Amino acid sequence: MSTSIAFLGLGNMGGPMAANLVKAGHKVTGFDLMPDSLTRAAEQGVTVAGSAVEAVKGADVVITMLPSGRHVLDLYADLLPAATQGTLFVDCSTIDVADAKAAHQAAVDAGHRAVDAPVSGGVMGAAAGTLTFMVGGSESDFAQIEPVLQAMGKRIVHCGQDGAGQAAKICNNMILGISMIAVSEAFVLGEKLGLTNQALFDVASAASGQCWALTTNCPVPGPVPTSPANNDYRPGFASALMSKDLNLAANAVRDNGVAADLGLRAAELYTRFAEGDGGGQDFSAIVNAIRATSGA
Ligand code: NAD
Repeated sequence: MSTSIAFLGLGNMGGPMAANLVKAGHKVTGFDLMPDSLTRAAEQGVTVAGSAVEAVKGADVVITMLPSGRHVLDLYADLLPAATQGTLFVDCSTIDVADAKAAHQAAVDAGHRAVDAPVSGGVMGAAAGTLTFMVGGSESDFAQIEPVLQAMGKRIVHCGQDGAGQAAKICNNMILGISMIAVSEAFVLGEKLGLTNQALFDVASAASGQCWALTTNCPVPGPVPTSPANNDYRPGFASALMSKDLNLAANAVRDNGVAADLGLRAAELYTRFAEGDGGGQDFSAIVNAIRATSGA
């Protein structure tokens, strides 16, 4: 069924996501602050609006894919009064759980419906239509939005009520950030002890140390030929985005009084790495910072 969709934020992720909605037969009206993004979106069949407020007029569904919670809350303040009552707002940005809940409440207070639906899968997944969506919201809103999300992703998971999608996203990425640091520290320790990286990989990848950071995104070149380490650490998943997600997790850890020492430390280490020269490199490049700090 064709849905009338307003899509705000047509950047690296939102651009290809909107294009996949058009390919699936939806009527997509988009807006972005960057003229280049608007040009690319128009080439993909998106109807370009003159403003975000103009884009939402008459839309059944409003999708946002923006940099931060501040962007989402500020834009919602403009959009909520302009949209038809009962519009379904879907925020796919990665933002604080608290901001996601505030955005949801603002939408409901204005007579609308809302879900949070952050994604994993990166720019390549957005282009291929293979993203994973983690959705927080009511059963009925999930049922309405699931077929729309299927045009952009291959796994759509209903995680619970409002904020649950963001919670799932940051908890997963906290595991990932901590495990990448653990794997990287083990390789540097192994090197200092005279182990080859291949020997450690052969043991750990088939033993209790095995995890995605080791067996798929291995931080040292060699053992996993497709990992970014073999391609000058080109992302992949950039350290700047890992730093962002770990800081969102750290906010939630502090807000909820969780004793997550490693999550907080991982946020510190990735913040320092991303603010140095690592921000544009794949997050597995943190192994090089650990090696340098170890004098190896
Ligand atoms: P991006 O910076 O490429 O795109 C964001 C876009 O939002 C920009 O084009 C910007 O001009 C636009 N924008 C900002 N304010 C706006 C407004 N008021 N109205 C209309 N447009 C506005 O960022 P991205 O890489 O597409 O990421 C978007 C979100 O997705 C972020 O929250 C990010 O954390 C998350 N995310 C990114 C990736 C990734 O690999 N890039 C993966 C998963 C999740």
